[in-house]
Amino acid sequence: MSEMLPSSTDVIVVGAGNAALCAALAAAEHGVSVLVLERAPENEAGGNSRFTAGAFRCVYNGVDDLRALMPDLTDDEVAKSDFGTYTEEEFFDDMGRVTEYRTDPELCEILIRRSKETMLWMRDKGVRFMPIWGRQAYKIDGKFKFWGGLTVEAWGGGPGLVDALTRVARTNGVAIAYGARALSLIADDDGVKGVRVKHSGKTVEVRAKGIVLAAGGFQANTEMRTRYLGPLWELAKVRGTRFNTGDGIRMAIEVGAMPTGNWSGAHAVGWDRNAPEFGDLSVGDNFQKHSYPLGIMINANGERFVDEGADFRNYTYAKYGGVILMQPGQFAWQVFDNKVIPMLRDEYRIKQVTKVRAETLEELANALDDVNAATALETIKIYNRAVMSEVPFNPNVKDGRGTRGLSIPKSNWANTIDQPPFEAYAVTCGLTFTFGGLKIDTSARVIDTDGVPIPGLFAAGELVGGIFYFNYPGGTGLMNGAVFGRIAGTTAGQRAAQIR
Ligand SMILES: Cc1cc2nc3c(=O)[nH]c(=O)nc-3n(C[C@H](O)[C@H](O)[C@H](O)COP(=O)(O)OP(=O)(O)OC[C@H]3O[C@@H](n4cnc5c(N)ncnc54)[C@H](O)[C@@H]3O)c2cc1C
Repeated sequence: MSEMLPSSTDVIVVGAGNAALCAALAAAEHGVSVLVLERAPENEAGGNSRFTAGAFRCVYNGVDDLRALMPDLTDDEVAKSDFGTYTEEEFFDDMGRVTEYRTDPELCEILIRRSKETMLWMRDKGVRFMPIWGRQAYKIDGKFKFWGGLTVEAWGGGPGLVDALTRVARTNGVAIAYGARALSLIADDDGVKGVRVKHSGKTVEVRAKGIVLAAGGFQANTEMRTRYLGPLWELAKVRGTRFNTGDGIRMAIEVGAMPTGNWSGAHAVGWDRNAPEFGDLSVGDNFQKHSYPLGIMINANGERFVDEGADFRNYTYAKYGGVILMQPGQFAWQVFDNKVIPMLRDEYRIKQVTKVRAETLEELANALDDVNAATALETIKIYNRAVMSEVPFNPNVKDGRGTRGLSIPKSNWANTIDQPPFEAYAVTCGLTFTFGGLKIDTSARVIDTDGVPIPGLFAAGELVGGIFYFNYPGGTGLMNGAVFGRIAGTTAGQRAAQIR
């Protein structure tokens, strides 16, 4: 149910995704009135957060930490799982490595050190979590062994997460207006005082003492992504919501906010070549095709172009979409043989998939649409000869089973492609979210171009810059939104309570 807009409230939160709803919940803890403005209609609300699998990357030092977060875990489930640990040090290493040590050290430290407590806070509010049995663990000798530091997901994935947060926000007195697009900020020399909103066809002003921007990146804005990410990015598909068109970033910059971070960078993955231009909630993230470390990728020239086994999927998938976009025709085929087909992730078995299957390599090469078949066949044969078959294959570790003598090596999990049937899947670039955004401080206050906080303005989630550069460790987007959403809501709520 959408609400009529009041002329004033204590705190306004722009957006109704994970970051926004965490901000709204945190602000409400301070006894202030909170209004969430969501541009989307209710049936499309929840931003990119709704499209996710709900995976959260968080610190845990052992199974006791996981049991505290997931009290539903049974002894039997614990006995059949090797959860390992994911320590602060490991999280720091991962963030440092994948961002090439450019991540803002202060913000990164907060993201990591508050990850565990923020998850517990969400659970206390009423969000339920479970282990990611399906996608982040392989069953070895009857035990699920988790790898890659990504162990926890929200019940019901992204839709379950957004539904839970929305329900809890309402229970905590937060008002949510759908179809309410924030257009601009009302500001003067003393800071930000409110928001101009288009709601039910009318532009109105809503005043507030604290405004939290959590309206996502600019990935759904073709013009902005071409301007900032560069040529060809207008041709990428958008994996998630069509509503994240950079409004929050633009509004803040209009009142003097400092742009920061990797404005030419984005999270982008291999995504079904024939997927629609924007995300489809009925398919969710299943257009992604993330089992490429088990096979090889071939472009229109019939050539490999990237080390498919450079690292675990969690540390390469977010940058390989951009690599695929830069291939001729902006596509690639992922090729597998029968040895690994049973190990492909569930997303390979959906109805809406662009796939070919063949009994011989010749037949397969000829079936790859828009590909130089002769070169593709030769590429597969050369690759097969280069595989270090003497090194044992083990998908749970970086097994070092690579290739020898190829100009583009495959560093791990190299298996020959020689056992029929063969399958290939066509992918293009699916853009997830943009990395550049607003500069915030450790209290989630938006910083202006003079380096000073803008009174009354806070930000969290995708539209914050400076945290991700070049790449991204899987499951960090939701964690980032939750940690800084909570901080932004707290700071905004405290401010509103003080100046009442
Ligand atoms: C297919 C897919 C799968 C993913 N899987 C994962 C995963 O498993 N784990 C993970 O950590 N991350 C994942 N991500 C990334 C993750 O979705 C984002 O990092 C995270 O959800 C961003 O949260 P947010 O709250 O900042 O933005 P969003 O959830 O996108 O919310 C932004 C909100 O702002 C609203 N909005 C936009 N403009 C306006 C305006 N002018 N006025 C009012 N409202 C406005 C939007 O409608 C939306 O509700 C995935 C993303 C996609 C697309």
